[in-house]
Amino acid sequence: MKNVNTGFIGGMKMPNLEKPVTEGGNPVRKDYLIFGKPEIRTEEIDEVVRVLKSGWLSTGPMVQELEEKISNYIGCKYTLAVNSCTAALHLSLICNEIGKNDEVIVSPLTFAASVNVIEHVGAKPKFVDVEKDSFNIDAEKIVESITPKTKAVMPVHFGGLPCDMDAINKIAYENELIVIEDAAHAIGAEFKSQKIGSQGNPTCFSFYPTKNITAGEGGVICLNDEDIAEMIKIYSNHGLSKHAWRRYSKEGEKTYNVIYPGYKYNMQDINAAIVTHQLDRIEEIIHMRKKYANSYFKAFKDLDLIELPPDKSDRKNTWHLFPILLNLEKLRISRNEFMAALHEENIGSGIHYGAIHLQPYYKKKYGFNNGMFKRVEYISERTISIPFQTSMSEEDLFNVVSAVKKILYFYEK
Ligand SMILES: *Cc1c(COP(=O)(O)O)cnc(C)c1O
Repeated sequence: MKNVNTGFIGGMKMPNLEKPVTEGGNPVRKDYLIFGKPEIRTEEIDEVVRVLKSGWLSTGPMVQELEEKISNYIGCKYTLAVNSCTAALHLSLICNEIGKNDEVIVSPLTFAASVNVIEHVGAKPKFVDVEKDSFNIDAEKIVESITPKTKAVMPVHFGGLPCDMDAINKIAYENELIVIEDAAHAIGAEFKSQKIGSQGNPTCFSFYPTKNITAGEGGVICLNDEDIAEMIKIYSNHGLSKHAWRRYSKEGEKTYNVIYPGYKYNMQDINAAIVTHQLDRIEEIIHMRKKYANSYFKAFKDLDLIELPPDKSDRKNTWHLFPILLNLEKLRISRNEFMAALHEENIGSGIHYGAIHLQPYYKKKYGFNNGMFKRVEYISERTISIPFQTSMSEEDLFNVVSAVKKILYFYEK
């Protein structure tokens, strides 16, 4: 270990006097700490090998087992496995018949996929600003944005902190809107002791490598409506009836009909093999993340150069991300310069997210401008997600704290 003193271990708090690499100093570590590196254990590797040897590489028994396991864990009637959360969101829109001339309400503080799928079905994204104390869509502002064309609302449980589902479900019920939940960050999260995905709204989870549990690539839709579940199943496999029939009769396996112009969105058994063992450890993973979050909170608590991420006591947060907001007024560098400086220290990071309404495609198509969704813009300009994954060691955490403090103190105005 290098002789950097951040006060992170031992509870001491001393400013770090070393220079950042950007000013000629030494990096806090030799090897690069990758942002969001997944933790793959031997259970996953052995299961993948077993699947490969079984010869059933695409959708088969492993996918079915995973779907049942997730339904049990979440407490929903149906789980449909697909090859990404993006596919899950896309199919949820299609199978709820959302399309041309419809509007879907969503926050612009999300990953591009949440909004792109709205475009894919020919509907229009209707942006609503977020709450300051949760980074989630502001329910009060949803009401103001409803028009006769509004068909659905897509709450994104940012960072795994659930949205106010009481308020959102009530607004949806009163205005006959469909709620499609983007729970890419939120497997295992709870709103008032109810698991996200258990209340019947189509809820989409992601198993992308950086997410809390991973399949390599993959996603699922959890829901309670049998007809929509059936439709999603068919749509995810080219629209062929065969797949659905196989669940009920042996004869159905030999021939098929094309029921819909479906997509190639099915999950493979190889991917299901990876995520099934990650799911076994989900509570342990959430517990670890909460512990790491507490370490960061403790290490940064008296620092007025950053704002720490929100949490809510009536919700179970999965702590998918640890975004810090830079107090740009007190710093001599921009967020992007901060990110570059962190990179030089051999610490990876991410941005969650660059406001979607200001992305070139959306800005141009809908004429959005700066100032339209102020809270999202405030977060978007200042946010940086520091490494925060269960594959990190205590020393890795220590390195991140050292690097962040070193850069902040050096560039303080
Ligand atoms: C990762 C992510 C997605 C897309 O997930 P994929 O499985 O990569 O398709 C959608 N929404 C949000 C908020 C995400 O973070």
